[in-house]
Amino acid sequence: MTPAIIARNLVIPLGLALSLGLTSCSQPTATPPNNNPDTTTSDVAANTEGKKKVLTTFTVLADMAQNVAGDKLIVESITRIGAEIHGYEPTPSDIVKAQEADLILYNGMNLERWFKQFLGNLEDVPSALLTEGIEPIPIASGPYSDKPNPHAWMSPQNALIYVENIRQAFVELDPDNADTYNANAAAYSEQLREIDQQLQEDLTQLPERQRYLVSCEGAFSYLARDYDLQEIYMWPINAERQFTPKQVQQVIEQVKTNDVPTIFCESTVSDEGQKQVAKTTGARFGGNLYVDSLSTEEGPVPTFIDLLEYDARVITNGLLAGSKNN
Ligand SMILES: [Zn+2]
Repeated sequence: MTPAIIARNLVIPLGLALSLGLTSCSQPTATPPNNNPDTTTSDVAANTEGKKKVLTTFTVLADMAQNVAGDKLIVESITRIGAEIHGYEPTPSDIVKAQEADLILYNGMNLERWFKQFLGNLEDVPSALLTEGIEPIPIASGPYSDKPNPHAWMSPQNALIYVENIRQAFVELDPDNADTYNANAAAYSEQLREIDQQLQEDLTQLPERQRYLVSCEGAFSYLARDYDLQEIYMWPINAERQFTPKQVQQVIEQVKTNDVPTIFCESTVSDEGQKQVAKTTGARFGGNLYVDSLSTEEGPVPTFIDLLEYDARVITNGLLAGSKNN
């Protein structure tokens, strides 16, 4: 193969790339920098040596996977914290990193519109679909009408299925540590059942006529179904067309009709349209919820369980405090 042919191919088999010195600028992510003079090289090697690498398409899945993996696998998200994940455009270094991975976990159900092509660029990297076995809620309107709403993880009951799919994928990937994955998955599932119970208690405080969850993206269909909320949103799924005048007007009308006291948006998109709604209707803007990404360690939702707790608290407090009759 000549260099001219290689240059036209986006993906170069890793072994070939290494032999050509093409990846000299990419550091192997498995090896942390050895800045501590007390840490010997063999200690560092012992931390990562032999561990398989798992990539996920976004941060929420990485946290779930980390809970099941414990310290037996290296888990990383392809998209970073705060990134828009639906229409993400993978970089060449994402592809190099993914080619080195032993397994890639993805959501599917129409979430990662970039993933099929991304996976097609890789050679022999297995992947696992984490929504396998979940009953989809169809998207109600727009260009993706009738396709599955991808935000299935926003139901803790569904999250249990994600965890079981992760457990199975890890046991297959690394059977020597199956006992650890089984035990970790069981413990994490117990936490998810507890959070489900807590969300049920938090959100049932809301009076019947105040159970409207107004968000930017229609990302709360599963949460709304589980906890008996009415979902109103500006656009059905993150795409190019966000907060058009028509979308804003529709939400204004629904907020007025249902006398909704508080409205919300999400951390990964612009809340400008929702602030227009608040200004026009007199509803309070209750802040940004987290769905498609965790926050940094310093932010309010560094883990998926934090995300569920935080959203339930912001929704409940927002709707109760914003009630015009309180
Ligand atoms: Zn989304």
